[in-house]
Amino acid sequence: MAVRWTLLKSKAKELLEKGNIRKAPVPIEKLASELNAIIRYQPFDGEVSGLVHCHERQIIIGVNSNHAETRQRFTIAHEVGHLLLHQTKNLHVDNLLRSAVNFRDESSSLGVDDKEIEANQFAADLLMPEDFLLQDVRNVSSTEPEAAVEELADKYRVSIQSMAIRLSKLGFIR
Ligand SMILES: [Zn+2]
Repeated sequence: MAVRWTLLKSKAKELLEKGNIRKAPVPIEKLASELNAIIRYQPFDGEVSGLVHCHERQIIIGVNSNHAETRQRFTIAHEVGHLLLHQTKNLHVDNLLRSAVNFRDESSSLGVDDKEIEANQFAADLLMPEDFLLQDVRNVSSTEPEAAVEELADKYRVSIQSMAIRLSKLGFIR
């Protein structure tokens, strides 16, 4: 099964509409708790960015409290993506948001790498919605491209790198 780009986009949009979110920054903790997920901040070792754990209807999202706030927000959005897209059972641990370890989770026909691509793209769609950016790109006050990316990253509370990738993928910058 290939990465489901359209599904990711519509799932993110649906969640934003349900939460009545119309502008940046997207309150990712609020959206996660509306899905009945409990967020726990813990100083994980090394490169573990986060995890999602479902057990008897209890959903726990663990976030590495050693990481920058922007990265923590991305991690929460990424784990919400796994929740909504991958019927995550038991424990799913993310290292570096790229490689992940799945424990006893064979419910999806997607490979592990495709799931990570989907969760990352979902996180970008959720934290930096295209229609929000369409407006904000027009109203940005900085005239220098680099400063404009920084201004938008600040507004959306995402890393400069995430914003630069997003803007480039959407064709707003080259
Ligand atoms: Zn993941």
